[in-house]
Amino acid sequence: MPKDFLKGARDAYDVIVVGSGLAGLTAANVLARQGRSVLLLEQHYKLGGLATWFRRPGGHIFDVSLHGFPHGMVKSCRRYWTPEIAKAIVPLRRVRFDNPMFSLTTTYDREDFVRLLVDQFQVPQATVRNFFETVRGMNFYDDQSLTTGELFARFFPGRDDVVRLLMEPITYANGSTLEDPAIAYGIVFSNFMAKGVYTFEGGTDRLVTLMHEELLRNGADVRIHCDVQRIHVEHGRVNGVTVNGRHIRARSVVSNANLKSTVLQLVGDQNLDPQFVQETQAVRLNNSSTQVYMALLPDARVEETTGDLLFSSTAPAFRTDLLLSRDITSRTFSFYYPRTRPEGRPRCLIVSSTNARYEDWASLSESEYEDAKQDLIRTTLIALEKYVPGIGEKLDHVEASTPRTFEHYTRHHLGSSFGTKFEGLKVSRELPNQVRGLYHAGSVGIIMSGWLGAMNYGVIVANDVDSLLMASSRTPSSVGSAPA
Ligand SMILES: Cc1cc2nc3c(=O)[nH]c(=O)nc-3n(C[C@H](O)[C@H](O)[C@H](O)COP(=O)(O)OP(=O)(O)OC[C@H]3O[C@@H](n4cnc5c(N)ncnc54)[C@H](O)[C@@H]3O)c2cc1C
Repeated sequence: MPKDFLKGARDAYDVIVVGSGLAGLTAANVLARQGRSVLLLEQHYKLGGLATWFRRPGGHIFDVSLHGFPHGMVKSCRRYWTPEIAKAIVPLRRVRFDNPMFSLTTTYDREDFVRLLVDQFQVPQATVRNFFETVRGMNFYDDQSLTTGELFARFFPGRDDVVRLLMEPITYANGSTLEDPAIAYGIVFSNFMAKGVYTFEGGTDRLVTLMHEELLRNGADVRIHCDVQRIHVEHGRVNGVTVNGRHIRARSVVSNANLKSTVLQLVGDQNLDPQFVQETQAVRLNNSSTQVYMALLPDARVEETTGDLLFSSTAPAFRTDLLLSRDITSRTFSFYYPRTRPEGRPRCLIVSSTNARYEDWASLSESEYEDAKQDLIRTTLIALEKYVPGIGEKLDHVEASTPRTFEHYTRHHLGSSFGTKFEGLKVSRELPNQVRGLYHAGSVGIIMSGWLGAMNYGVIVANDVDSLLMASSRTPSSVGSAPA
């Protein structure tokens, strides 16, 4: 008999959270801590969503999406998780750029960027100050028609080198482009500039384990291998979900699954306003990415001066089409030194990431796909040789992932690494107006994606759910009945 992953689960909860990405985990934790009965359902065999890891023989542990996030994570983790989690957040001090326009190393904070822009790029101090003040002052309610490209043209006309310095890491960090709204760039860039780039000491495996323990301490019911097939709606109100063939009722449901899957598949258009359905269909997905994961032999080391994050490119200019092309010119290398996992076996790992389009990988036959992955590995090792001489002989393990890999593990449409484009936020926020009690929390737009954005969005939605539950507890019980 197949194992029952819902064994012992109740028939009804205050809240069901669908998906255990950072937004889902955080929403579940905040609500459980507020005393709500919470059921967290994850279809994969591991929690974390894109914030995940995998092991390979030889003591190697690869982080899939732990490369860098802003200092704001410390506050969010302290408030919404535990002091132990917050304490493990440590700075990455060596961020390197190497491209045909410039080569430099920076601590990637405002002080160092002002120095670089004024001294090395010869931009007038007043322009730099004005730019920083403008982006820092941007807020969510600002005009969203200005694009990032237009913002840069206003401050640094004709300065492609400056644009590259300012934009390359953000494009990497959340998939945004020069064509996206400037507001989204401004908020994320300012978050990083506040104090630089941070990581989680101990790796994603430690972080997610600590989060799981905290959820259990707070009384949440956490289940893996639980695939939600349907979110039920009755008389305009959420009623519960069908998961692994079983119906479980809830007063509220938070979906952390991809926004488009949530609305168009899990809920279905029969329960929604046709215009809302159309708006959801029109939401664009962010691009995906390819990765090459490299583990060095146990006694092989990389000099720490090589950097923590290295934005390398051979492209003469910084352009969205070049960044996404399968003919790769830009790679971001993340270096994981033994200090990344002080309690683990001392190992050096390198992960190379490149933004990518799903369609370039989707239609390949199995043999073409395998060849393309081998080619990705081969060309990546050639590019890395410049920074880690003799890399080929130092390797213990190497493998590649593609947009198809992300689609497979997280069910994100088109393997999107950062959910949807900016317009997704409006649809995500509108969902509870369409179906009372139903919310979405997860990567939408640029501000609400990445580790910090996803986590903070989980908090926002948890507070919305709590307000709804408080209001509805003052009215007759609203726990749904069995679906029709
Ligand atoms: C290669 C890569 C590198 C990245 N690097 C960085 C970085 O350096 N810094 C940074 O800040 N961010 C980075 N990100 C982005 C960051 O990892 C994500 O934005 C964030 O983790 C997304 O969290 P989320 O809450 O939106 O959910 P996701 O991580 O997308 O998780 C959604 C979860 O829902 C589950 N699910 C879906 N459908 C169902 C269903 N029907 N039933 C049950 N469960 C379901 C999925 O299995 C998944 O676990 C990177 C992403 C990638 C792919």
